[in-house]
Amino acid sequence: MINTNEILSLRNKLERLRWESYINKESDDILSQMSLVSQSISDLLKQWHPENENNIFVRSNLLKLKIAQVPEIKDLFDYFDYEENIPAEIACKKTIELCQLRDYYSIEAGYSSYPHLVLLSEGFSGQINSYDSILNYIEEPTPLNLISLDSMDEYWRYYQDIAVDGIEYYDVDPNMLKDFTITLIDMLGEEKNRERLLIVVENQSISGVAFDLTKDDKIKSAGILLKPKGIHSFFVSAHEVGHALLYLNQPSNMCFLPIWLDETHAIYIENNSQLLKKAFCKYFDEKIAARLLSNRKIGKDMELRRFYASLLTEIDMWRISKQNSSLDSKIEAISKSFGTYYKTYLDTTFQNKLQWSLDTFRTIDPVYIHNYIIAEKLCVTIEDYLYSTDIDTIKKILSRL
Ligand SMILES: [Zn+2]
Repeated sequence: MINTNEILSLRNKLERLRWESYINKESDDILSQMSLVSQSISDLLKQWHPENENNIFVRSNLLKLKIAQVPEIKDLFDYFDYEENIPAEIACKKTIELCQLRDYYSIEAGYSSYPHLVLLSEGFSGQINSYDSILNYIEEPTPLNLISLDSMDEYWRYYQDIAVDGIEYYDVDPNMLKDFTITLIDMLGEEKNRERLLIVVENQSISGVAFDLTKDDKIKSAGILLKPKGIHSFFVSAHEVGHALLYLNQPSNMCFLPIWLDETHAIYIENNSQLLKKAFCKYFDEKIAARLLSNRKIGKDMELRRFYASLLTEIDMWRISKQNSSLDSKIEAISKSFGTYYKTYLDTTFQNKLQWSLDTFRTIDPVYIHNYIIAEKLCVTIEDYLYSTDIDTIKKILSRL
């Protein structure tokens, strides 16, 4: 019988090392410590058998961790993590292989598929028992009546990084972004948490990420890493503040936190226009602050469309990867779905029809994107329920966690 707390404690340690590796540019010492901790998790999980765990939520989460440690899965995963400029043809093959292996080990343990295992690990059950059943609970985007996009490059330029009245694309000052992040924390009544929150702003590959750095479940601490790139950075900052404040305020981090709950917290802060407008007004005049927010509203609509098209592609990818057909025809079929969905929901096409395999969601976590869509919907429900998005209400919610 293994001790789940031991695994959770190692998982938390790995998370703290991951943060260190990000801010210390993957130093060899930290990387070797990470591989030792990872090995300890793997050794413990080898002694664990799913049938010995009665709690389906804990069982699914542990099995998900165990599957990630299977050597052939780990090798494929590491390939995507360490190789740069991977050709799409190779990415397609390896992505399908990863789907098949993850499915194989999930089915062997009694689940109907890997997505089924992941959904149970997030606390979903009942009628949400397959990846496509999620679609019954989220809304299909309405027909598009915005401008047609020539390419996804235009999507990123136009809807995510749009420049407003002289605030240029690359013009975001790192110090200003850091100060903006602190302003949000203070406005949310969390000044007391300021010193337990590490904020690092620097140029790196990801736009933003938050880490739970709490040690031994005692001294709460969290880290936020941000990239100063375009207007979008301010909204990423608000999103990561949402994650970090959840980590600081949750009663314990010795648990499996459902991802949809984590993302709902982040998106609730990111979408709060009253909060953001007030913070923007510290740095820009009121008219620009209003424009930043109205542009963002359009960007958000486009982002949800992108998530929806991506989710549909992903659902097809899991279904097609199981089919009894050649690898080439699987790749062809997934690419066809991908093209259709992006045309339908974003009115754009990709130059490279194999691009679906290079989306980080396919490689890092190919059953994740639904969490964003669910979280967006939950945020609207929460706001409707509270009839308010004012800052005092959010402060109350945070203090009650
Ligand atoms: Zn997030």
